[in-house]
Amino acid sequence: MGVIPDFTFFPARSDTNTHPRHASLWMKGKRLPRITGHDMNATKSDSGAAVVQLVEGLLTRAVEQRASDVHFEPTDRSLLVRFRLDGLLHDIEELPKQIAENVIARLKVMAGLLTYRIDIPQEGALPTPHLAGKDDRAALDMRVATFPTIRGERAVVRVLYSGTGLNELEDLGFDPAMTDALRSAACRHAGMILVTGPAGAGKSTTLYAMARHVLTASPGRSIVALEDPVEQRVEGVTQIQIAPHGDLDYPRALRSILRQDPQVLLVGEVRDAHTASVIVEASLTGHLLLTTMHSGDPAEAVVRLLEMGIPPYQLVSMLSLVTSQRLVRTLCTACRRATDRSNEPYAHVGCEACHGTGYFGRTAIGQSFSMDASARAAVLDHASADALRELNAKQSPGLLDNAERLVRDGITDADEIRRVLGQSIT
Ligand SMILES: [Zn+2]
Repeated sequence: MGVIPDFTFFPARSDTNTHPRHASLWMKGKRLPRITGHDMNATKSDSGAAVVQLVEGLLTRAVEQRASDVHFEPTDRSLLVRFRLDGLLHDIEELPKQIAENVIARLKVMAGLLTYRIDIPQEGALPTPHLAGKDDRAALDMRVATFPTIRGERAVVRVLYSGTGLNELEDLGFDPAMTDALRSAACRHAGMILVTGPAGAGKSTTLYAMARHVLTASPGRSIVALEDPVEQRVEGVTQIQIAPHGDLDYPRALRSILRQDPQVLLVGEVRDAHTASVIVEASLTGHLLLTTMHSGDPAEAVVRLLEMGIPPYQLVSMLSLVTSQRLVRTLCTACRRATDRSNEPYAHVGCEACHGTGYFGRTAIGQSFSMDASARAAVLDHASADALRELNAKQSPGLLDNAERLVRDGITDADEIRRVLGQSIT
């Protein structure tokens, strides 16, 4: 939640799967109108219509392939089109450089952006008539963000789906201990639950699932969510779209919402000290607060909250649970290969069904840090992140323990764990 489509987070080349053979597998889908530089010599209206068709075809295909975003990346020779699938970017098309400007301009027209301003970042919504994914996931919303680069304008279309099937806490893939910790924390009437992880780790999905749990476990509690952007519509929750650079930023919206006294507050992300201070106020005055933070692990998140100026005595009285999570790709069952290792019964291969990657879909792994008596004492004692980490390890299984379990169960393999956690399993 609160991640602006990849302006700052653009995976390095090594993080992406860019073998040409994958691109050719992707091409077996819907045929697109072929546009070459030569076609551009045709009449202007012909090429205009072709670009309109091309952009529409690409967006339709992105939704069909359940891509979470589509990148239009200008290079020296071309406009590279990439889909993000299960968290990783895949090259889909290389469009001729001559039509790059027209393609970006078409996206801007669709979103009602200023086509003549190619020197500033712009954001807008794309209309999404009747787009539906293969697994019954309708595209809820498409947002485009453009950005000037030295090679021309770059555009990223982010696709937000409704009905991803990940509605309840039990569906997310966490181990039972983590699910229980989240469940019981959601039943509290005050305090703060902090879900952490890097960008794209599924933090908001967890927050939504918790909100749903609150609604079913204690019906009648009023829930207000402040988000940037609103990623899913949740029945029974009042959702408010935050404009971080406009008039309705997090601290301002929070203060005004608190006057209406909701019982549960869902705040997209703690980004700065100002938001943190309003959040402290809210959770100390009898509200249950669910929020996220960009952080490596629970211990680091606790230390960062302290660095944002929250006094330790306030932190320990408001914070009840800190979790950390990652998303790992699950093995494609159509092509996974059996090994002779008992701690890793299957490894990835790659087939047409999984676009040559060897993986299909994702699941979550998590770690929870409950603010029990010893954790509270450590925070009051100004313990270091390492000391908190040690305490956390005694309390509950870590990310690597949970990752090992998934590999042992044949759900994913060691290569994927190494990619996500940067650690090898033993
Ligand atoms: Zn496969």
